[in-house]
Amino acid sequence: MKKITNKEYKMGKVWLVGGGPGDPELLTIKAMRILNQADVVLYDSLISDEILEMLPKKCTRIHVGKRCGAHKMTQVDIQKALLTSARKYERVVRLKGGDPFIFGRGGEELEYLQAHGVEVDIVPGITAAGGCAAAAKIPLTHRQYGNALMLDSGHSQHGEYQPSQRPTRVFYMGVKQASQITASLIDDGLCYSTPVAMIANGTLPNQEVFTGRLIDLPALAERYSGLGPALIIVGEVAAFAAKNTTSNQIQDIASQLGEAVA
Ligand code: SAH
Repeated sequence: MKKITNKEYKMGKVWLVGGGPGDPELLTIKAMRILNQADVVLYDSLISDEILEMLPKKCTRIHVGKRCGAHKMTQVDIQKALLTSARKYERVVRLKGGDPFIFGRGGEELEYLQAHGVEVDIVPGITAAGGCAAAAKIPLTHRQYGNALMLDSGHSQHGEYQPSQRPTRVFYMGVKQASQITASLIDDGLCYSTPVAMIANGTLPNQEVFTGRLIDLPALAERYSGLGPALIIVGEVAAFAAKNTTSNQIQDIASQLGEAVA
């Protein structure tokens, strides 16, 4: 284990890793590789014992479940524990149930760590919706029975259920219909300046991420429709892509369109 002394003080890196819904075989190869190289793993209560048994013997384990033992860790406590770990260790893994960015507070941890100068990478996991649906043989979409999927939180920041005010919309197969999608969303009351991101060849070496506003989406889709499979994300969260300077090849479409017009 590479514990860093004060003399050679250097900030470690944090990986927010999705542990999947429970079955250890649903961990990804990437999650396993990152876990095998970890100096410290901070894990949730949702992480199954089978997965904990697979962690390398040499790594330090810290249980940061919201209820661990008698004392309750708040989200702020967890974020501080991550920062302390990044100051102490080279390779820090935050292992979360399912996917870190789906009802996993991964966005808050990302923002906090980046604000403190820590480099962060995200390793996605199979979210409970996908894992449980597969286990129960429920196709979450089906051309005859369901053409959209809503993941909603039954639990708001204050506990009770609140119908979603600001849903994130993700469009598969939407590039050719971008004008129609944009018009329909604006008709539905979405502001023309809502952030959007278009991700082509996601996770592959030729990944490209374009960001802009909803009103720019048709131009963006037309200009880049030939790149390969693409996903469109519409909602306030899409602005994270533009803020995140460490991501590969992010291009702000507003400035590009500006250049094209000039
Ligand atoms: N980030 C997680 C969700 C965390 S919220 C994900 O992407 O899956 C925690 C909730 O997820 C639980 O209250 C439950 O509703 C659901 N969940 C997580 N794992 C589950 C499992 N194995 N079976 C059923 N529901 C599960």
